[in-house]
Amino acid sequence: MRIERIPAVEPVSRLIEEFGKLPGIGPKSAARLAYYLLRMPEAEAKALAEAIIAVKDKTVLCSSCQNITDADPCAICSSDERDHSIICVVKEPLDILALERTGIYKGLYHVLHGVLSPMDGIGPDDLKIKELLGRMNTGAVKEVILATNPNLEGEATAMYIQKLLTPLGVQVTRLARGLPVGGDLEYADEVTLTHALESRREM
Ligand SMILES: [Zn+2]
Repeated sequence: MRIERIPAVEPVSRLIEEFGKLPGIGPKSAARLAYYLLRMPEAEAKALAEAIIAVKDKTVLCSSCQNITDADPCAICSSDERDHSIICVVKEPLDILALERTGIYKGLYHVLHGVLSPMDGIGPDDLKIKELLGRMNTGAVKEVILATNPNLEGEATAMYIQKLLTPLGVQVTRLARGLPVGGDLEYADEVTLTHALESRREM
């Protein structure tokens, strides 16, 4: 006897579909999350939904460093306690969290929102490189630390930016080796990151 598979009702299947678009969530996890949400108290489910909406509605990119912020310029760019003569260039906002955890970096940041990747059709115009060059205009920036990940795309991106910055008279440095090759900054521990920052070398 054939057993007919009964699909989830529309609102549930829709939720499963949306969860399935998240990174690291396969169809089974998506279904588990959806049914977990169904059993959640209504107030908790609504709080989650509102948090999702707020993360899109109440955040913008900082017009200076391009990090995600709820106030423009962001808290780091507008802080007098930060060293405005150094900019650390990272691939994505999560990298800033990793570097801030070290507690030793006191300069500013710049988020590229990606790295050069010809295979995926990502070129210089898709990254916040123009915005980075624009920040050199005031002459206040003395050093730019290129902290893209130590993999092929990260290295290529660092080289590309270095070629643009060097003629502007800015010192360009790269995080020291010691970060796991091919690894993401985001996953590096504080000790490794602190060492990489302190022993950064001129490019
Ligand atoms: Zn900022």
